[in-house]
Amino acid sequence: MPRITIVFAAAALGIAGPAAAQEPMNWQAVAGEALGTLQAYIRIDTSNPPGNVGPAVDLLAGVLKREGIAFERFESAPGRSILMARLKGSGKAKPILLLHHTDVVPADASRWKRDPFGGEVADGAVWGRGAMDMKGIGVAHLYAFIALKRQNVPLDRDVIFMAVPDEEIGGELGAVWMRENHYDKFEPEYILDEGGFGSRDLFSPGKLVFGISVAEKKILWLELMAEGIAGHGSQPHDQNPNDRLVRALARLLAEPMPPSNVEVLETMKERVGELAPNKFNNAIQHSTISLTSLRSGVGEPPKVNVIPSIATATLDCRVLPGTTKEEWLALVARRLGDPEIRIEVTYESEDPVVTTQDSTLYRALEAAVTRKHPDAIVTPMIVPFGTDANGFRPHGVKSYGFFPAVLPATALGSMHGDAEFIPVDALAPAIEIFFEALRATASAPSR
Ligand SMILES: [Zn+2]
Repeated sequence: MPRITIVFAAAALGIAGPAAAQEPMNWQAVAGEALGTLQAYIRIDTSNPPGNVGPAVDLLAGVLKREGIAFERFESAPGRSILMARLKGSGKAKPILLLHHTDVVPADASRWKRDPFGGEVADGAVWGRGAMDMKGIGVAHLYAFIALKRQNVPLDRDVIFMAVPDEEIGGELGAVWMRENHYDKFEPEYILDEGGFGSRDLFSPGKLVFGISVAEKKILWLELMAEGIAGHGSQPHDQNPNDRLVRALARLLAEPMPPSNVEVLETMKERVGELAPNKFNNAIQHSTISLTSLRSGVGEPPKVNVIPSIATATLDCRVLPGTTKEEWLALVARRLGDPEIRIEVTYESEDPVVTTQDSTLYRALEAAVTRKHPDAIVTPMIVPFGTDANGFRPHGVKSYGFFPAVLPATALGSMHGDAEFIPVDALAPAIEIFFEALRATASAPSR
């Protein structure tokens, strides 16, 4: 009955076209298929290390094959399979890339109440490593992509589905490898990846907020080293590197982080109001430092009566866009207040680039969200962690991190934890919103 009505109405308005004759999608049915695929996907252990994702790519390739969608497969190294599938457009505009990673962080099964690779459905959720980060999102990409094919949506640009390994250890054999070796095969205008989401409790309790990530923080990993003079624990002296390091760290961590002046955060506050005080909102509004290790002592286990000659600490610094590496290192050195402590950069990510929200895809995502959730506030945001999308921003790609589902803070907090889950009812609206935003951004005006 709905089908007849729609065709009749379209004919009456004189707007017959290929899209008008399509059966409307039954999103619940599509989400049911997606749920089955997600369970199977979680059951394939893609823990990284070792990061073998071949069987996961077999699974995704099997789904595409059944839909009659062509794909290519690449191997950046043994077990590091990459899948790329394409819905061909007229080529009038550059592609949209749906990008997700197939690898997951390892799970310590003894800490889990459920099998981390069981894909169990219970209490309205799918449980397992990768449910949120990010097999659930990848499956939502896949079924939105499939829906475009099933609906025969005419496209002005290619829509590309890509599944890459190795994100959890930096992406060298995944997204980075594809960019360096096969960029000519996809060269997107837009990327959709992980990052933002909808929440009723995390950003501002009582408000439904959807954050679309437009930028990330710069990762700077530092190693601090204090040197001193070894000696007998019975006779303390003023050249103990432990004392020196601990005092300097106390100075470093005591000062609050400076307020940010990032435009995205200003926009976010204008739209949402004050953000709830929690660790996530703190991390998106400030540059942060986590003291992640302290190493010292002589012998294993360290001798209690020996003053060592060296003490080290590692700092995981996440720096907001707008602060350079040099500025940050100067801030750390000043706060440590001890020029004798050596600071070494052991890893840094690329300088963050902010993607504009003034784009067709951003507006399409915003419109699709508000159609489904009229009470929603949609805002650009920064994510506190790194994703594959960041490496494409310096190449001029407009990259958005977004999973358009309303998620409880507990689900978001479960990423990398020992009870990772995604609510089952997140899938249908997410797939539908992805589909609508893709159709609005990629479809050719057929009349
Ligand atoms: Zn991830």
